[in-house]
Amino acid sequence: MTPLGVLSVASEMFPLIKTGGLADVIGALPGALAREGVTVRTLIPGYPQVLDAIGGARAVHTNPDLFGGPGRVLAAQIEGLDLLVLDAPHLYERPVNPYLGPDGKDWPDNAVRFAALARVAADIGLGALEGYRPDVVHAHDWQAGLTPAYLHYHEGARPGTVMTVHNLAFPGKVPRELLARLGLPPRSYAVDGVEFHGTISLLKAGLQFADRITTVSPSYAAEIRTEEAGMGFAGLLRARADVLSGILNGIDTGIWDPAVDKLIAEPFGRTTLAKRAANKAALRAWMGLTQDPAAPLFGVVSRLSWQKGMDMLLACLPVLRVLGAQLALVGAGEADIEAGFRTEAAQAPGRIGCVIGYNEALAHLMQAGADALLVPSRFEPCGLTQLCALRYGAVPVVARVGGLADTVIDANAAALATGVATGVQFAPVSAEMLDVALRRTVALYREPTVWRQLQTNGMAADVSWRGPARQYAALYRGLVEARA
Ligand code: ADP
Repeated sequence: MTPLGVLSVASEMFPLIKTGGLADVIGALPGALAREGVTVRTLIPGYPQVLDAIGGARAVHTNPDLFGGPGRVLAAQIEGLDLLVLDAPHLYERPVNPYLGPDGKDWPDNAVRFAALARVAADIGLGALEGYRPDVVHAHDWQAGLTPAYLHYHEGARPGTVMTVHNLAFPGKVPRELLARLGLPPRSYAVDGVEFHGTISLLKAGLQFADRITTVSPSYAAEIRTEEAGMGFAGLLRARADVLSGILNGIDTGIWDPAVDKLIAEPFGRTTLAKRAANKAALRAWMGLTQDPAAPLFGVVSRLSWQKGMDMLLACLPVLRVLGAQLALVGAGEADIEAGFRTEAAQAPGRIGCVIGYNEALAHLMQAGADALLVPSRFEPCGLTQLCALRYGAVPVVARVGGLADTVIDANAAALATGVATGVQFAPVSAEMLDVALRRTVALYREPTVWRQLQTNGMAADVSWRGPARQYAALYRGLVEARA
């Protein structure tokens, strides 16, 4: 196998900076791809927490005027990751959130901040770093979307390009007046260019000009070609269907391993499921829930948003009382949904517990201690929490959309008869059908043998990066061969 070099470009990377699943993917893929003969270097912005983590790294490239200030590329190795960090204080030296200012709104110069990331990625792709020429430049989501466009408009040889959509709901729209400022030619402002409903979309730039488009599950790759789920990009994605594919995400099975997880109360495995009881007790204690031996415990680890169906879950909470079930939730997001769960928890002490915020340790204990994990998303490109749930024996209860449809096997009559079910799915995605799913789940829970089989089937599922990494490697090789 000829070794292949890939420059990955993204705005987040676990464990350095994370607001969602994107960071997990960017952090985990390089290790998995190394085993497939693909060497990945990853370019990310030099946010304060990233610069702190890498310490005094050496500069391998400088640009005296990167959109209004100097930029340097620092090379660093951290936790086995080969990093290129774009240090440009005028763009990235800002507190807390990578995208939002203290007022909770997008930074007004986000267009330029991420154009700079894409510009430097394209330059590196074209050989700006001495002794380094990647075969493929792989851009992730809108923040990196201009990378394939810059490379497309470069005259002369260039590397192959891949654009991965982790969530089509974020188009990265910026005013059309910025076209020249972003370094895009006038002809790019067209339907078959970066124009998007009277604005520029950084994501569209990537979707339009990348050699290959991927998204993070086969079902989502199909759904986004429809007007309902295409978020305005359906026509483009249908036109480019021959280069569009879906590759599921995996999870880091070293970090998410119930047998050795230091963040849970008691390690366990498929043959020692009884030990989950200690985790359920610890989770209840953390969340202020009563230690009721008969009550099934539903868990939620999620952004609190319309996408994630959290408003539907709020509407369904009365059925939990009817079913004698409990709810433990950790999440943050839209203010009205946060307030809704706070109110419900206050009105049902001991039965509904919520922690508003982001808490990695609690997310682990949730997977280890909850009986079932709820993911009622209206749309879900892949979803990672249901993969963690499978691995931890928390039965996933999911909407039948996107990656949730692809990773959970519904406990319908056929799947139960053949012994292959791993969870519960519901469709269409509505509060009424979520209500039905909650009832079905509790009925299954009350049959201990069936329930145990759901748990052990899920724990046997391969949710690692092995399979996905093999598919990315094949995609890269196919692309390089096609361009040779
Ligand atoms: P998305 O990226 O759309 O938010 P994913 O399911 O793809 O959803 O990824 C979410 C990731 O963030 C998972 O790793 C999940 O465990 C984590 N996560 C989400 N909310 C929280 C939270 N409140 N506390 C801890 N981890 C969280």
